[in-house]
Amino acid sequence: MSTELALSRTTRLINEALFDSAAEESAIAAGLLATTVRLVADKPNMSSRSGQAALVCAFQLIARMGIGIELIVPEVPLLAEIPPLAAPTLRAGLLNLGHDLIPGATVRNEAEHADATFVFGDSPCEDPDAIYVTANGLRCRLARDRARAGLRITGNAPIGALAAGAAAAAIALETAVPHIADATGACCSARPRPSPGPPVDIDMAELFPSPSERPMSLGDIDAISAGAITNAFIFTLLWLPETTAEMRVLDNDYGELSNVNRNTQQRASDEGKPKITILESSSTSTLKIAGVNKRFNKDTRNELLPLAKRIVVGVDDIPARWWIQEEWPANLYVAATSNHEAIVTNHHPGEPCAGCAHPHPLELAEGEFIPTISFVSFWAGLLQACALLTDTTKPERATRRTVYPFGLGEKQWSRTAVLPAGAHCAISCPSSRPSADMPGYATHARDR
Ligand SMILES: [Zn+2]
Repeated sequence: MSTELALSRTTRLINEALFDSAAEESAIAAGLLATTVRLVADKPNMSSRSGQAALVCAFQLIARMGIGIELIVPEVPLLAEIPPLAAPTLRAGLLNLGHDLIPGATVRNEAEHADATFVFGDSPCEDPDAIYVTANGLRCRLARDRARAGLRITGNAPIGALAAGAAAAAIALETAVPHIADATGACCSARPRPSPGPPVDIDMAELFPSPSERPMSLGDIDAISAGAITNAFIFTLLWLPETTAEMRVLDNDYGELSNVNRNTQQRASDEGKPKITILESSSTSTLKIAGVNKRFNKDTRNELLPLAKRIVVGVDDIPARWWIQEEWPANLYVAATSNHEAIVTNHHPGEPCAGCAHPHPLELAEGEFIPTISFVSFWAGLLQACALLTDTTKPERATRRTVYPFGLGEKQWSRTAVLPAGAHCAISCPSSRPSADMPGYATHARDR
């Protein structure tokens, strides 16, 4: 049935990550659909770009898991052009989108019954167990303590707000676990796992020293793949005030219903359209997106050169990352996910490269089914955008940043490490060779 197909990658990931692959995946889908969360916001908190970014991000990532949503929010004008929201106002745009995502999932704007309530900023709420969500600049906080997290969301800066939305999604999934256990009859894995919170206390400045949120002209950007990570990268750029870019997206794939679980720019009704066409529909007055119906490989290379000065790569295929690296773009940002991690690395010529960061090809059988979930894929695109913004402000050394989207309630929610020179490299780049005269890379490696 179409609901199970739309959720098939999500239910596979939940099965592997939380149920030791012992549960029936169609029953996991039923457990997700049996869960409902309430999103509560008032007009003052939805009068800023940050407030709207937190709400829309949480809505997108929760609804795409099939978890039902009660949307108790005011009808206010959207403060940014945010495709695929098709209405000019917040509530109507979200309700309309919510009915075009996971078939059969609940989306309503009346309070009936909810398993958890998320309150944005200092919006009024009577529920004593409500989880308050606040964001300010690069920071966000989620807590049941209104005094701690029930602070008015203001301002234009969206990065902390988007992180808040992703954190809310991971907590919403935790709320669904008892329903999934009931529906499947399976026990949640006994393996210890990190806490998604609440409380969650994230400061993106721990990962990125200076991701500029000032208006910027990013110029030409090539995106290799129109998949989930590029969707999340675009979703992030759309929220940045007055930031302009001209993107070229290379991909020859088609949008499938099984992509709606995570592709933020895709609706269920986009099924069968070329992925580049779906992304072109996300063009706005500040972000221009043009698709090219080709993959980048050895055969298409000559037709696709020259590449842009900034390249974002989000392909699963690891050798495809190496082919791009072998063009030695001036600025390269490679993002990737596993079941539990979202990762980004940045590269400039002469430094440890994408072949150093990803030295081994992933042995994927042709057509192998990859488990995915909305908030992990989203983190990869958010990190990629932050890496690009930081590096554009002040060029950085090659660095790997990892976030654990299921464990945002932990102190160790992320990790940063400068890539060492002299590592094994898939393409034997200059910095990987023992003679590389780059002292300091290894000694300055830092983990945190
Ligand atoms: Zn290398």
